[in-house]
This record gives sequence, C-alpha cells and structure tokens, in this order.
Amino acid sequence: VGLENKQLLEIQELIQKDKDHLWHAMSRYNEKATPLIGMRGEGGWFFDVNGDKFFDGVSGLWCLNLGHGRKEIAQAAYEQMVNLSYFPLTLSHIPAIQLSAKISELLQGSYTTFFSNSGSEANETAFKIARQYHIQNGHPGKYKFISRYRAYHGSTLGALSATAQANRRIKYDPAVPGFLHVPPPYSYRSPFGEHVPDSDLLAADYIDQVINWEGSETVAGVILEPFISGGGVIIPSKEYLKRVAEICKKHDVLLIVDEVVSGFGRTGEMFGFMHSEGVQPDIVTMAKGLTSGYLPLGATAVRSEIYEKFKENGKQDHLRHISTFGGHPASCAVALKNIEIIENEGIVDRVSRLGESILLELRELESLDKVGEVRGVGFLFGIELVEDKKLKTPASEECMVNVIAACKKKGLIIGRNGDTVPGLNNVLIIAPPLSSTEEDLRFMVQVIKSVLREGC
Ligand code: PLP
Repeated sequence: VGLENKQLLEIQELIQKDKDHLWHAMSRYNEKATPLIGMRGEGGWFFDVNGDKFFDGVSGLWCLNLGHGRKEIAQAAYEQMVNLSYFPLTLSHIPAIQLSAKISELLQGSYTTFFSNSGSEANETAFKIARQYHIQNGHPGKYKFISRYRAYHGSTLGALSATAQANRRIKYDPAVPGFLHVPPPYSYRSPFGEHVPDSDLLAADYIDQVINWEGSETVAGVILEPFISGGGVIIPSKEYLKRVAEICKKHDVLLIVDEVVSGFGRTGEMFGFMHSEGVQPDIVTMAKGLTSGYLPLGATAVRSEIYEKFKENGKQDHLRHISTFGGHPASCAVALKNIEIIENEGIVDRVSRLGESILLELRELESLDKVGEVRGVGFLFGIELVEDKKLKTPASEECMVNVIAACKKKGLIIGRNGDTVPGLNNVLIIAPPLSSTEEDLRFMVQVIKSVLREGC
C-alpha cells in the first residue's frame, strides 16, 4: 500500500507511543516487534494502520461472532445511550429485564440472571452464589470447586484459581483456597492410557472419585466448559457432560457451565451444553458472544430454585455482590440486538452445517506427518501439531510460531494455546466469526492447508 510520508510519520509516532505506554495482554515485551494496530473492520476482515487486510480467524478473542460493522447493533447502543445513559442494577431498567427473560428462554429452563462486565466476573459471581446457596440450603461445609486441568476460567484471582494452566498462574499463585483440579477428557493424550476406550467417561468418573475422597459435604460445585477452548480445543463425547451432570446431582454439587466461549452459537447449538441431551446446568456463565464483542457484558444465569434460597429475609441472605457497570443499559440493548440477529439469520444452524464441512476439510490434514489430530465442533477448531506422529511429540515452539506467522503473511489471523509446559502449547486454534461468508471460510481453510503443507 502506497502510504504518504506524512502518514508513515504518524504511524511511527503511534508505534512509539504504543511501546512507551500501552501494556499488551499476554505479550512478552519485545523492543523489535511492531504492534499490529487495527484501524477498521468489515465483516470478518480488518485493516491495520498500514492498510493491510486480514481475515480474523479467531474472532478477536473468540467474541466478534457477528463480525465488524453491524449498524443495527451500533444503533441499539446509540439509542440506549441517549435515552438512559447509565442506570444501576440495584434498581432496574428495561433492557436488563428483557435480556434476563431472553436468557432464561434460550436456556430452556427457568433462570435468574446477575449481570457483570466479563467472563471472569461472571465466574466469580457463580462461585460466590454457589457458596452462599449451600450455606442457606443447610450445607455450610460445601465450599470447594472442581475444575479440569487445561481449563481457563478467567484472570481474576478466583477465576484464575479454577484455571489450571501453569503459564497463567506462575508468579500469581498461591491461588484462592478450595479449588481442585481433575484430568480433562482429552482422549488424544489421555492420562488414563493410550487407546483406552471411553477415556472421557473415565475422566468424568474421576470427578466422582474426587468428590468421594474430598467428602461430598465439602464440595460446592464443578465448573467446566462444554468444550475446553483456549486449553487446546478438547472435544469430549456427548456422554461426558451427561455423566458429569449425573455425578453432580448425586452429590448435591452445583454444575456450573462456563459458556463464555461456547455460548450463542459458537459450537452449532445456542449453548455448548445443549449437545448433551437432558443436561440442565445449575449455573451458566456467559460473556464474549453475548454481545458479539460490541460492548462488554458478563452474565451469570442461575436456576430459579437456587435463586429462591436468596429470597430469605435474614440480614445477610441476599447476594451482597455488586458491579457498577454490570448490566449497563447499552450493553444489554446490544446483547438483545445481537441475539435477535443470531435468531433471525439462523446463525446457529448455519454454524452447525458449515462447521461440519470445514471440519471434514481440515481433517484431510491428518494425513500430514506434523498433524497429530484435528478437532472441532461448530466454528471452533483445533489442529494439534506434532514432531513425531507415533510418539505424539509436540511440535516445537519455532514450528508453532512459523505456522502462525505464515498464515498472517497470507492475510489470515489464527491463534494457539499457550503454556510454558512443553506439550501444552502445540494446538492451532481457529474460531472464525459465525457470520463469515462461505467465500471467507474457503479462504481461511485454503490458507491453513497451504501453510501446513509447506511445512514449518
Ligand atoms: N471463561 C472462558 C472459557 C474464557 O475463554 C474466558 C476468556 O477467554 C473467560 C472465562 C474470561 O473472560 P474475560 O476475559 O471476559 O474475563
């Protein structure tokens, strides 16, 4: 792109200010690296300050589900902001009322929702609700939470304590007491042994054992994503979540389903747990796709029977938890419009249909020596790279970096799981906007195929 000198100077100045003042998330400081500065977006594509164009194969941080530039969503925010710019949820406002009712309808049960600003906060809220619920339900000893290794549940200290990825926690531990971890249903690298049938069900049964070992009277909840996303796209059978739900029920342990990534169509169902028939979570947490990333919003939806326990009139029986901006009127208005579009455009069915054919295409890559396994559900894909297919030796850091850089060079942004532990950082992650055109999706698949076939 032919940029004029003045523009080039302005860009240089921006880069310098970025380096001097802007702290980037999850990034190692690198004097030589140039930050990618986004300027403008169109659907699933964005342009940087140099005018270079990229297809966003990870939807920002898995949140830009309807892509850039939906005027109806911006209009909903604008109208709400000029009408009622801010209103606290110690009181009430119409978009929050309507959104809480809509969430209950989408969850196909009777749910009451507490709003916050992010996925981390939604999970923190869930933990506090679960502990208080058990106390008010006559089981004050139930305070522990179980989550899986590889899980990511957020960056705040409680949510980070449920998170079990070394790279996220080193130098921030010790964690909040009361969080336990169990093996994930990761059949490709099962801790229960090679080629063990139904190893994901063994992982579910392990939760049962841990609850017994700990004493069920001490366990408040199990928190899990229906499909581990950032931890390497781990896709168990539909039976896994059913089994975990049964175990939770048996022990009076709350099933907290983290739908921060998987909610609102990402996996080809409105919510990820809906792939497992008959599962009705006690608590569902949401963020990201709730607003397609247009404004921040987190939500913690709680089965109404649980909420009932907070209606007692003791001095401290209500939920003493508050978020100034949680459930901001503009964020709720944006979420309502976002959900309306998802429903009107049949996004969920589209993701299910197109996702299956993309997965089939990507699976062809399993014939390559360096591709250990291709996994996916809906528009959430993981490609696990290896050095030695038989031994499943994880691909080197250099290989991972090269593949991602080669995709970027061809105009495609993809992600990866990241950990300092070798073997836990070798999965490419692909999660395009749910509204991507078929042409865009073909471009994405073709770039990935060509890069992986070239080698690293
Ligand atoms: N839960 C899951 C599964 C996530 O992937 C994330 C973020 O990536 C979070 C929770 C935390 O969300 P947030 O970054 O909005 O706090």
